[in-house]
Amino acid sequence: MKEMEPTRYDIPPDLQGQVAITTLDKIYNWSRRNSLWPLMYGIACCAIEMICTAASRYDFSRFGMEVMRPSPRQADVMIVSGTVTKKMVPIIVRLYNQMPEPKYVVAMGACASGGGPFKEGYSVVSGVDQYLPVDVYIPGCPPTPQALLHGLISLQKKIDYQSLKKVRWYQKGHDSVDLPVPVLGPDLMDPRDYAAIREYAEQKALALEAQAAQNQPSAQEVKA
Ligand code: SF4
Repeated sequence: MKEMEPTRYDIPPDLQGQVAITTLDKIYNWSRRNSLWPLMYGIACCAIEMICTAASRYDFSRFGMEVMRPSPRQADVMIVSGTVTKKMVPIIVRLYNQMPEPKYVVAMGACASGGGPFKEGYSVVSGVDQYLPVDVYIPGCPPTPQALLHGLISLQKKIDYQSLKKVRWYQKGHDSVDLPVPVLGPDLMDPRDYAAIREYAEQKALALEAQAAQNQPSAQEVKA
């Protein structure tokens, strides 16, 4: 725990050294930052570095993160460790929706942060932040275990400065609305755009029909 800042409350001399006065924010953030439970999953080569960071040599249990959960219902950090393909992104968003709040996302590596070496590839999403709110980006291909540890420590620092009054999940009227899960058709589609996509598809079909009718040879042309 960080050293307590001096407060304007005086502690009686007989209680000094036994009682400390701090804010609710500090206690709450301290307990949360030191017990982050990552979701146990990996999607590409960066996951190997994540596994290595969890193993004995780097050992992120030193930061209270050793309890990697195989269920999103029990996890509060999603480390997106690898290339986010269009096929995988609906599953990743669904897993994120299943995590309880407060929850955080770490984009590990060039692929998760912006597409990496596969950017603009036909099957790859150019950054998971197009679908999830990312808290920390870690550069590298792959990032080393030290880089992942640095990213996780950066997340802890971010939590240190959060306030119960301001975080979105404690706002009055905040309803934990699920993020829209994209659907993979000919390309990724946002379900909120269905009406517009359907209208566009209908217009396109009508235009094609009209064009085909125009190009059809007349009966005279066929006879000739
Ligand atoms: S950033 Fe590099 S190491 Fe990580 S998933 Fe992409 S290609 Fe693999």
